[in-house]
Amino acid sequence: MFIPSLEEIQAMPDFTPDRPMRVLASACLAGEPCGVDGTSYGEYPEVLKLINLPNVKHVRSCPEQFSFGIPRRMPDIHGGNGFDVLDGKARVITDHGDDWTEGFLKAAQEMLQIALVNKVDLAVLMNMSAACGTLFISDGCRMVPQEQRKYQKGPGVCAALLIRNGIKVISQRDYKTLDFIFKKLNPQHALNPSLTDLHEIDWYLNYFR
Ligand code: SF4
Repeated sequence: MFIPSLEEIQAMPDFTPDRPMRVLASACLAGEPCGVDGTSYGEYPEVLKLINLPNVKHVRSCPEQFSFGIPRRMPDIHGGNGFDVLDGKARVITDHGDDWTEGFLKAAQEMLQIALVNKVDLAVLMNMSAACGTLFISDGCRMVPQEQRKYQKGPGVCAALLIRNGIKVISQRDYKTLDFIFKKLNPQHALNPSLTDLHEIDWYLNYFR
């Protein structure tokens, strides 16, 4: 599993300001207006709280901005998920029908290099993105009426490359795992047993059962 377990989090080193947890964040989650529409897609307080802890050092990356700039068309994966794109079995197509697969593969390599150079302990990525999505993504173009939207299991292209290189990845909605990480970073943190990760929410369980 690419999401770190409680045991894996507990086995991590004790993080201090001198040896901080090194986190790679999707730049939009860190507040950068790098989305397709030039926004950050809203605020994600848990991620901001994490990356601003004194014993956390973060680096950020927007792989789509790297290859396509801001603003840009809406890309989605057709014919598979991010692993399939890496394997040449699926393509990244924009809502205008342009094939962005090559740019996505370059962007994934760029994000991986940032992760490796900075020796990150963890990546916190934006759910659902064709680049950064972790657990599930759109199945084909998302710019269709809501009742026609389809989803598929699997990560986006850049998340897939991070996972294949052994990097632990969570989304901003994996609240239970984020809570475990907060406990690791601050032993005084009180765990909240009511929190769930994305794969435990009713919508996910019902849609993919
Ligand atoms: S989800 Fe990833 S690719 Fe999309 S705007 Fe955020 S950082 Fe950029």
